Amino acid sequence: MHFISENVVPALELCILNISVADLAIQTCDTLTTIRWLAHHGLIANQRICDKCQRLMSFQARRGKYYMDGYCWACSKCCRKKNIRLGSFFDRSHLSLIQIVEILYSWSLERSQVEVSRQTGISTHTLVDWYNFIRDICARYLIDNPVEMGGPDRTVEIDESKFMKRKHYRGKFKPDQWVLGMVERETDVTMMVPVDNRDAATIFPVISQYVRAGTRIVTNGWRNYNALPRYELENHGYTFVAPEDPTNNVEGSWDLCKVKFRAMRGTNDANFNSHLQEFLWRRRIKDNFFGNILYWIRYYYDVL
Ligand SMILES: [Zn+2]
Repeated sequence: MHFISENVVPALELCILNISVADLAIQTCDTLTTIRWLAHHGLIANQRICDKCQRLMSFQARRGKYYMDGYCWACSKCCRKKNIRLGSFFDRSHLSLIQIVEILYSWSLERSQVEVSRQTGISTHTLVDWYNFIRDICARYLIDNPVEMGGPDRTVEIDESKFMKRKHYRGKFKPDQWVLGMVERETDVTMMVPVDNRDAATIFPVISQYVRAGTRIVTNGWRNYNALPRYELENHGYTFVAPEDPTNNVEGSWDLCKVKFRAMRGTNDANFNSHLQEFLWRRRIKDNFFGNILYWIRYYYDVL
């Protein structure tokens, strides 16, 4: 056979893919079914052309340590073989495809690594790696889809908050991480950026990176911003004002973020950014995290 699945769904269908645990268990019940499911959703190549002969390779059963899934692509003319995972998100892993799909699904439901490890038998060490691979997708999405907020007649609320970071070594105190939060009041568009400190001079360049000129900015630190050099303020046309309403949007976003970080009992330095990016990705995507992470995996690992 020159293909794995009879058809491949359009990428956008992944965004609305809504699948229950029970359905997923059926659709990934064994290796071949899982391979078909992945090819059908465009997550592994559904066809492959031999590099040498430029003809379609055939999908066939193959045993051996290089073909851990039990299948490969083979050229009928020159006998070349190719791994079915080649170039995909699933490439170069010792886990089975069924396990990786299960990890993706568990991540989408925000299940903890300890819980997933207990249920699947996959080590937490391996799960940490996979959760990081998935967060890399979130990070790339945020880089490629930058937010801009504010503008004339718009209000952006900003606030700085301290997040507790986990101590690396017992007894050694790690300083907390300041994070600048920005929320556009009219749309709830959010951005959070780690910053070294909460000085107006440190934070102003970050604001100017995300917030359009002419925005009214609500902040407790309005006095400090208004004390910045005149030309800075005039260049960007911002108006800094005091929060008139204490129950504002930015507080709500902080509460959500802090609840999540508390649930993880803090996070270490290296992971702090990637956890923040996951949080922001989920906030941007809003729902159906499984289908949407698959969509972005397909987007970045274009195997078709
Ligand atoms: Zn060939």
